[in-house]
Amino acid sequence: MTEPRKPLPRPAPESLPYWEAAAQHRLDMPHCQACDGFWFPPSRTCPHCTSADVDMKTVSGRGKVFSFVIYDRVYHPAFATEVPYAVALVELEEGPRLISNIVGIPAEQVRCDMPVAVVFDDVAENVSVPKFKPL
Ligand SMILES: [Zn+2]
Repeated sequence: MTEPRKPLPRPAPESLPYWEAAAQHRLDMPHCQACDGFWFPPSRTCPHCTSADVDMKTVSGRGKVFSFVIYDRVYHPAFATEVPYAVALVELEEGPRLISNIVGIPAEQVRCDMPVAVVFDDVAENVSVPKFKPL
């Protein structure tokens, strides 16, 4: 019997540059050239000023845990050996918030406002998932 595999990201056209950067262990966020704002998830126009003059910019990868939950239940067989694990809303220094996992510590030690930095989990060839570890 083969081990169940975790589902892989299926990028939309707007999020493809994000996943391509992640595959190279770079955290790139959508950025507005008109107002210098950042946001997430990616979109074709800036949610701050509605400009379509947008690009992707590499960010620090540092932030803090804005909020989190701990998953104790197995919702997919590939996660059976990982519970409990933390799913967090991470607020980056540049402002955007993204949902990810906090890794490197037991889930019950995760706290709000905990400083974190991005790490990349190579889950398949050319597919890397940004996750966060405590600083
Ligand atoms: Zn803008």
